[in-house]
Amino acid sequence: MKIFKFGGASIKDAESVRNVANVLNHYPGEEILIVVSAMGKTTNALEQLVECYINEGTDCKQRIEEIKETHIKIINELFPADEHRVHNDVEILFMQLQLICDMPPSHGFNRVYDQIVSFGELISTKIISSYLNSSGYQNKWLDARRLIRTDQNYRFARVDWNFTERMVKETILPGNRYVVQGFIGSDDDLNPTTLGREGSDYTASVLAYVLDAEEVVIWKDVEGMLNGDPKIFDNVELLKEVSYREAIELAYYGASVIHPKTIQPLQKKEIPLRVKSFLNPEGEGTVIRKGSDLNPFLPCFIKKDNQMLITVSTRDLAFIVEDHLSMIYKLLHQHGARVNMTQNTAVSSSFCINNDPISTPSLIEDLKKEFDLTCTKDAKLYSVRHYDESARERVRATGEVLLEQIGKDTYQVVTV
Ligand code: ASP
Ligand code: MG
Repeated sequence: MKIFKFGGASIKDAESVRNVANVLNHYPGEEILIVVSAMGKTTNALEQLVECYINEGTDCKQRIEEIKETHIKIINELFPADEHRVHNDVEILFMQLQLICDMPPSHGFNRVYDQIVSFGELISTKIISSYLNSSGYQNKWLDARRLIRTDQNYRFARVDWNFTERMVKETILPGNRYVVQGFIGSDDDLNPTTLGREGSDYTASVLAYVLDAEEVVIWKDVEGMLNGDPKIFDNVELLKEVSYREAIELAYYGASVIHPKTIQPLQKKEIPLRVKSFLNPEGEGTVIRKGSDLNPFLPCFIKKDNQMLITVSTRDLAFIVEDHLSMIYKLLHQHGARVNMTQNTAVSSSFCINNDPISTPSLIEDLKKEFDLTCTKDAKLYSVRHYDESARERVRATGEVLLEQIGKDTYQVVTV
């Protein structure tokens, strides 16, 4: 069995839903389990609805209406005749959503969030599954809340692998094709849970793991993984093959294509992960699997904006030693700072962090109590995996160099 994942951008309107059928037509006779996200920007709209509901805003009804309208428009284009049951199925889901929002919130934010945001995937899968059936691609709709069992860590739920494996194996039978929601699951009491934003890739990976799938294909609006974000870097090229390890490294430095969490289960069972373009299903795309790090072997460029470079030094110019460093890292941890690069000298320690508007000012206040410090905001951090001289020059030339680090495989530079 193959697992295909279609994200929000690949099902944002009627035309793109029709294109999903076109992609699937390239795989006649294959057993495929299709994992689907919410349509377009629905998850963001539902997040706003949650805010409004929790803060007892008055315009919840209006927000639900807007989300409903977007979906109804797509359904009307895909199913022009009124009598198709998808009209009714989706109507019922919107009524359930409205019912939740008509009552005062009875739980904390995160639990309510999962209850409401999970509707995005429930609705999208009803539409996709019905459309594929009506266009001749027979499939069964599955409820991920019955398959993916998680703990009660709402919004960031962790999968109960044993239970999930049992349920999935009982439900998913050979010879069939299925459509299921990504991103959502449920706890032991069957309350909906979610796996963290962009969690549908992870669902695909969990299902592939428990089913020993042949491969996972993530369908995107790019040709595959490139050696840099084309919105930022010129002349980027397609990476045809990337090892699991290299994919995790790239994600660590900020490449946003695939989350490390998605790769880990696949790596354990050596299941290949393909990234392909839904606009060009015949294209080769990228395959992430066991093997050589990168093919072609190219420098890979990653840029992080909105960085804050902080340099702390001891007031008496004493050496920065282990107890200072442990104090610094404790504060970084307490304030939830993500350290993207660090460097120490005898009397100072520098680190580059994501400049979070809430936590960074309070971190700086706390550091100032103990150390002298200088801060540079609006810095940019470039990381280059498998750099060469010209790759280094390319990123150095982007501004004034504040800090740089040359590792064996990775070069990093902070510029302003
Ligand atoms: N719909 C969810 C989100 O937008 C999950 C996903 O797209 O993977 O975060
Ligand atoms: Mg999405």
